[in-house]
Amino acid sequence: MRYQTKYDSFVGLEIHVQLTTESKVFCSCKNNFGDEPNTNICPVCMGLPGSLPSLNAEAMEKAYLVARALNCTLTPRTMFERKNYFYPDLPKNYQISQFDAPLGTNGYIDIQVDGQVKRVRIHECHLEEDAGKMIHAGDMSLVDYNRTGTPLLEIVTEPDMSLGEEAEILMHELRRIVRYLGVSDGNMDEGSMRCDANISLNLKGHGLGRKVEIKNLNSSRFVRLGLNYEIDRQSEILEEGGTVVQETRLWNENRDQTVVMRSKENANDYRYFPEPDLPPFVTDQPFLTRIEERLCELPLARKLRLINDYGIHEQQAEQICEERSTADYFEEIIALGSDPVALATWLSGDVQKLLNRYGVQASNSVLTPPRFHQLLTLLASGKIHGKIAKQILDIVFEEDVDPEQVMKDKGLEQITDPKEIAAIIEPILQEHSKAIEQIRAGDPKPFGFLMGQVMKATAGRAEPQAVQAVLKEMI
Ligand SMILES: [Zn+2]
Repeated sequence: MRYQTKYDSFVGLEIHVQLTTESKVFCSCKNNFGDEPNTNICPVCMGLPGSLPSLNAEAMEKAYLVARALNCTLTPRTMFERKNYFYPDLPKNYQISQFDAPLGTNGYIDIQVDGQVKRVRIHECHLEEDAGKMIHAGDMSLVDYNRTGTPLLEIVTEPDMSLGEEAEILMHELRRIVRYLGVSDGNMDEGSMRCDANISLNLKGHGLGRKVEIKNLNSSRFVRLGLNYEIDRQSEILEEGGTVVQETRLWNENRDQTVVMRSKENANDYRYFPEPDLPPFVTDQPFLTRIEERLCELPLARKLRLINDYGIHEQQAEQICEERSTADYFEEIIALGSDPVALATWLSGDVQKLLNRYGVQASNSVLTPPRFHQLLTLLASGKIHGKIAKQILDIVFEEDVDPEQVMKDKGLEQITDPKEIAAIIEPILQEHSKAIEQIRAGDPKPFGFLMGQVMKATAGRAEPQAVQAVLKEMI
């Protein structure tokens, strides 16, 4: 980022999201990750002569849903084209994709960069089929065609970002969105979300420069590293008076740099033909109604609302809104009457630790919303304090029981009655008469020691402020 003041950088992304559907997009083969290679294939997805594709309505609905959530204009009549190219993982020698009339255009996605909301425009969303997967083992190359024909939604952004960090945030935000919408698991490790990035640099105020594409970025970290590497590389070329070559590059994760893959092909190199076997798709009113019904509040909007409405910390809101089910859980407990700030603190702190330990989501843990509310009510009413609440939580998770039941069974109720507290203090004072003398002589230090003795004697159940008051009185 040495020449940041001199050059503008323009970053755009092409993101591929695998949609979770029962079957593939043009045939009835199972759409399932991780099965034995070449077990989920048929003449249609292998493109054998005489086989006819038919469109999976669920894939179409999920694709339109994402386009709608990304504020795109939905295309009322879409069609499919054959994108022709030869590659070993593409058995038909063409890929069914959308070219002339992508299903969604001119949308936007909001991301949060350095505390500010930034809007990145979406050029288009289109549906296509995935290709197979090459596996290179030693000097052999194998092909698994299970992935062939998996519904793939391609989301193309405008070059509205300028740094790798922003692209990384956008990938994360999109992952949350597709998970909120329930259309993909967004898992980059398993290839459910992949990304090509393009970047161009130019002297400030001179608009777009010559575009370089980085292909097949399969982690959001590589998106950041690859783009920032290119910003440095290209600005050095420009600085030395050179010209950036328009080409496609790959991120080499072992060398932490991009390397040349091939010179850039143009869209018309693909020779798009209309797909003769698939009729145009027309969005009717019931279809559009279903899309509206499946929409939900998106994660960033929800996070900002939680901060605004409930006054909870940004970091906690971020954590709570990471998964839709957790945010739903949070608001369900608030609806029961719990204090949002206390709830957020417990949920993102001690409860989260337990959820991690047991490997469960809040929403399907034994700490149901009524139980969480019960625990917070015990705390708010002063029947227990924080330390005891932690003990109770441990037991709730371990034994699947109600917090109030634990408190009663284990005798964990807080001791607040001054008489009861005085009775506990009495023998402690007798035992430590020296400490009393010191306090009376003006040294406040032993007071803390005596407090500690009382808390120890009650296993932390005594209410500290009450102990303090009674103790002061008795000395
Ligand atoms: Zn098939």
